Amino acid sequence: MVIGIDGPAGSGKGTVTKLVAEKLNLINIDTGAMYRCVALAAIQKHYKLEDKDKIIQLAKKIKIEFDADRKVYLDGDDVSHRIREKDVTSIVSQISSIVEVREEMVKQQRKMAEGLDVIMEGRDITTVVFPDADYQFYLDASVSERARRRYLQNKEEGIEMSYEEIMDNIEKRDYNDMHKEVGSLMRTDRQIYIDSTDMTIDEVVDFVIQKIGEK
Ligand code: C5P
Repeated sequence: MVIGIDGPAGSGKGTVTKLVAEKLNLINIDTGAMYRCVALAAIQKHYKLEDKDKIIQLAKKIKIEFDADRKVYLDGDDVSHRIREKDVTSIVSQISSIVEVREEMVKQQRKMAEGLDVIMEGRDITTVVFPDADYQFYLDASVSERARRRYLQNKEEGIEMSYEEIMDNIEKRDYNDMHKEVGSLMRTDRQIYIDSTDMTIDEVVDFVIQKIGEK
């Protein structure tokens, strides 16, 4: 069984996916974290965004792993916190626009899900990675609400970014993520659309589980 959840930055995908995975006993795959790992690896190598070929090679070489607690490992190092920092966040959308990087990540994502019951979140899960996913959702919220949520989340995790910086980054990423050559974030008729602007996390989780139960 595959459940795909797509949606823009800060829409609550991470939190909702984690809770649904716990309640339904599913493997939880955060595909955004994978693109963040490629971005971090490029930063560590001092590659510039123009070094496309080097970044593509790097994406094929690095080892990205998750554990049951949603911790993310890059070549064996726990980078769960590091990949949320400002430098990674500010380039990840451009890194993920490189078509060959996407091809490699999509390949790995399909492999990770093989033979398992998974809930996978990202931007192109219901359109590219698993267009036939059993359950498909598009989780949305207003830009200001998404910036507010991300601001609080960063504060909790000790990541320094002002509300204005976050708002600016979210708007730029929204634009980039919706205008990619391949794997753009988009809505389809197959997805169940959820506007979570005025919903609590529990309400969204209950709604997703109810929809899954209905089918
Ligand atoms: O979900 P998160 O905000 O961590 O994703 C980071 C970035 O990775 C997104 O802004 C997007 O550019 C990229 N991404 C993507 N395709 C996915 C998941 C994330 O292009 N399936």
